Amino acid sequence: MKPGKVWLVGAGPGDPELLTLKAVRVLGEADVVLHDDLVPAATLRFARPGARIIAVGKRGGCASTPQAFIERLLVAEAASGNVVVRLKGGDPFVFGRGGEECEALRAAKIPFEVVNGITAGIAAPAAIGVPLTHRAASHGVILVTGHVAGEAPDWVALARCARSGMTLVIYMGVAQIESLTAALLAGGLDPKTPAAIVERATQPDQRALVSSLGWLAAEQRRQRLGSPGIIIIGEVVRHASPLALASEVPAEFLTA
Ligand code: SAH
Repeated sequence: MKPGKVWLVGAGPGDPELLTLKAVRVLGEADVVLHDDLVPAATLRFARPGARIIAVGKRGGCASTPQAFIERLLVAEAASGNVVVRLKGGDPFVFGRGGEECEALRAAKIPFEVVNGITAGIAAPAAIGVPLTHRAASHGVILVTGHVAGEAPDWVALARCARSGMTLVIYMGVAQIESLTAALLAGGLDPKTPAAIVERATQPDQRALVSSLGWLAAEQRRQRLGSPGIIIIGEVVRHASPLALASEVPAEFLTA
């Protein structure tokens, strides 16, 4: 029997045109596609007609497929000779548990390859015209999750990094917006620091708001921005394009 193989593929943030050529090629070759529920239907259209498409959704708080089950399914499908695409939102190795899936495949001696995708933390700022780094305003970027099982991120340390000119990009943080902005303020970050939320970046129903750290949680409540969303904090947010935003941007946040 021909040995199977698993491709761990990043689907990008949603816009199918942001898929890599390699992602499109392997989707067209796969016998089985296991996808997250962050992956839109328009992206799944690149799968080979006749391929089996299996949703293994894992949204926080919703009905979900246990990670161990996904890993067993990947191993079983590839062991029976199938070419399997494990299609994950964004990049498979950024908060996607891609590392755990690789370990399971390695342990089962299943060959696999990783295909990068554009991660939401890179796509969301670009979608509203915000550069992650800027010679005058930011010399680095921190990608961090707002939601960790067990221990919370060290917001005091992150506030210090932001004060020293790093842009903070927070995944899975919208549900914790009150506590995480309060923790950054308590850590000494200026409430006037520009901050934004981008919901469903690059998708047809993308929404965004631009505010300041001190007002971000209140604005989020008022405009009801939800999940999936990326929070961006730092001086670079002043470059946000008013055209990309759902609400009016305070004039003081816009660059000339
Ligand atoms: N591997 C993914 C991240 C998975 S964690 C990646 O590289 O992008 C899930 C989190 O990603 C969501 O809670 C949200 O914070 C973010 N996210 C994913 N897609 C998004 C999108 N289109 N717009 C905004 N945030 C998104």
